[in-house]
Amino acid sequence: MAVLWAATFAVMSAGCGFERATGNAMGTTYSIQADCPGSLANDRIDAELARLSALMSTYDANSELSRFNRGPIGVARPVSPELVDVVDAAFVVSEQTRGAFDATVAPLVALWGFGADAARRVPVDKEVAQALRSVDYRRVAHNRDPPTLEKLRPATLDLSGIAKGFAVDRLAGLLDDARCRAYLIEFGGEIRTRANAPGGGPWRVGVESPSGQDNVTTLLFETDALATSGDYRQYRESDGVRVSHVIDPRTGYPVRHRLASVTVVADTAMMADAYATAMLVMGEVEARGFAGEMGLAALFVVRADGGFEMFHSPAMVPYLEGG
Ligand code: ADP
Ligand code: MG
Repeated sequence: MAVLWAATFAVMSAGCGFERATGNAMGTTYSIQADCPGSLANDRIDAELARLSALMSTYDANSELSRFNRGPIGVARPVSPELVDVVDAAFVVSEQTRGAFDATVAPLVALWGFGADAARRVPVDKEVAQALRSVDYRRVAHNRDPPTLEKLRPATLDLSGIAKGFAVDRLAGLLDDARCRAYLIEFGGEIRTRANAPGGGPWRVGVESPSGQDNVTTLLFETDALATSGDYRQYRESDGVRVSHVIDPRTGYPVRHRLASVTVVADTAMMADAYATAMLVMGEVEARGFAGEMGLAALFVVRADGGFEMFHSPAMVPYLEGG
């Protein structure tokens, strides 16, 4: 899973009611700053993330999702309503992106050496073609009432491209229920903010450059959700070639293009997360068209000679510092 992605900053000014909480979950880290009536309950946050991991993690062989993946074909399996919610959102994005985002990508993820069942060598074309055959979200049916998932044909789900976003939304719900006045939640690079940063201004979130050494820009938020997907933190090298952990389900091959990262602002961190991954798959030309068509706020960082270039969709303008 992801490592810390967009660096977050806030000027901690003395005398305000902000508290900080940090921790680990789902193979990544979280960091929260919040202004709440009571004190920030670390154990409630940890418990919520552990609960979600037990539903959706493919690293946990006993998670609801792992058990579904091992289960039989043609049987509607009762699952938690939240798992159905995330699968439903994933499939909506699959439809909108015409398959650039597809949670049934799991066999390809494993074949290319990522995830819980990672293969140890580079696959040959025949193996890719073979794995690609079971990649299609239409192979899985889902139902809300009662909540069930059913494999119509062989399929394996991987929700890593969307579940962290969902977890951030749930943490935001937790803080809202606790009547926190303002917060910034960051989990594995997915972010949700409410109201203002300590000191009163908007929250400032830095978007990293492909070198990881500095920020290409700073985005400003009040109450929002954002996610970044990039290929320069999570990858492996094979014969000197960089293999991205984001795979194009339409071809079966890891993405390899100039687009280094996509940052998306949306109503929920879950949707921002899925759209960011989808647009990384698309590459700059298709992604730019998609963001325009959908009215999505997206910021693209593209590798260029000796550095990078940055461009954004019209809907991103209100979030740009000085923009
Ligand atoms: P990160 O985990 O670095 O935040 P993403 O949100 O982009 O990054 O999710 C990438 C993960 O999603 C991969 O590690 C893989 O498990 C899964 N994945 C890879 N390609 C796709 C795809 N085309 N559609 C949906 N999920 C994908
Ligand atoms: Mg994602």
